[in-house]
Amino acid sequence: MFEQIERVPGDAILGLIDAFKKDSNPQKVDLGVGVYRDEQGNTPILRSVKEAEARLLKNETTKSYIGSHGDPRYGKAILSLVLGEDSPVLAANRASATQSPGGTGALRLAADFIKTQLPGKRIWVSDPTWPNHLGIFHAADVELHKYPYVDADNRLDFDGMLAALKEIPEGDVVLLHACCHNPSGFDLTQAQWKQVLEVVKARQLLPLIDFAYQGFGDGLDEDAYGVRLFAENLDELLITSSCSKNFGIYRERTGCLIAIARDSEQMENVRSQFAIVARENYSNPPAHGGSVVIEILESAELAAQWREEVAEMRNRINGLRRDFVEALKPHGLDERFAFIAEQRGMFSYTGLSGEQVDRLRDEYSIYMVRSGRANVAGLVSDNLPYVARAIADVVK
Ligand code: PMP
Repeated sequence: MFEQIERVPGDAILGLIDAFKKDSNPQKVDLGVGVYRDEQGNTPILRSVKEAEARLLKNETTKSYIGSHGDPRYGKAILSLVLGEDSPVLAANRASATQSPGGTGALRLAADFIKTQLPGKRIWVSDPTWPNHLGIFHAADVELHKYPYVDADNRLDFDGMLAALKEIPEGDVVLLHACCHNPSGFDLTQAQWKQVLEVVKARQLLPLIDFAYQGFGDGLDEDAYGVRLFAENLDELLITSSCSKNFGIYRERTGCLIAIARDSEQMENVRSQFAIVARENYSNPPAHGGSVVIEILESAELAAQWREEVAEMRNRINGLRRDFVEALKPHGLDERFAFIAEQRGMFSYTGLSGEQVDRLRDEYSIYMVRSGRANVAGLVSDNLPYVARAIADVVK
């Protein structure tokens, strides 16, 4: 039977990683990867995570199943982190968390929940969005549509976005990026979040907020602005949270799906459906990453250390953004690329064309995806002038 199976091309990013590895140019720069890199080009294990793992190794007593919702202590810790310790939603017992294999697993749970429990509802995602959003909702057979997000001049198209949201059929699901929009790096201001909230209310939309980069934009609480605004002003909301980036535990697959409902009764009903979806997909989530997060967030000392480490990663990225614009100054390009310092998160839509990206790769061994998305964390202070000069050459 397998003779009928067609081979599909691999992920474009994986192809890029391969080509980068094979490139012998000592000046090569990888701006394609989707993970944080430090000044040495490594994706290190955080010190707080190492310490938490040492404690776990010593104290863990069982490897038995943790249940479809995961570890309740993980859920509790993440609800506080995402919604804020003093959230009225938590006080009213209207929020629940279901641990999942990464943010991706949480998105799949949400997609299956929408398909089975909210039949006929469509999902609306930003154009552009993280490509796997398309894959996940397609795999779950949820009809997907797009709303504009970035305009032809590589700016946030807020007017276009708002106008499109106003046309979405009542009751549909709208996916929003909480912060550090992937791939563009363009985030909503607080005033814009409020405007989106009004449209969501007027159209009775169900927001699904993807929160994959908490702490990578302006701060752990600052990045939660939109999430908390929505949580406190809407009866119903879905949130997918990921610990991959902010705890640097990518491969441990640690995330959760949060549901907020009108009251605790309805919350429990929704929550019970999440357990079914989880069971049908993978039964129980992996435990290790969640245990690490619990160990850190339940210890005042480790939590403080972790917050510092998140700040370190964030400050490095935001510093690089400013330094990069500065490095473009001698080429007279600082104003043209000033937006890079305003964008947030690891990723930037640079506005470079596919052809320009190809030239950067072929002539300078600088690798990024053809959409012109660059991972800012792939830069280091030493290669800023080199990358700036290469960009000046390809855009002139
Ligand atoms: N949402 C967005 C927007 C992302 O960029 C990512 C990671 N690239 C995820 C969700 C999922 O992250 P993970 O499954 O690794 O936790």
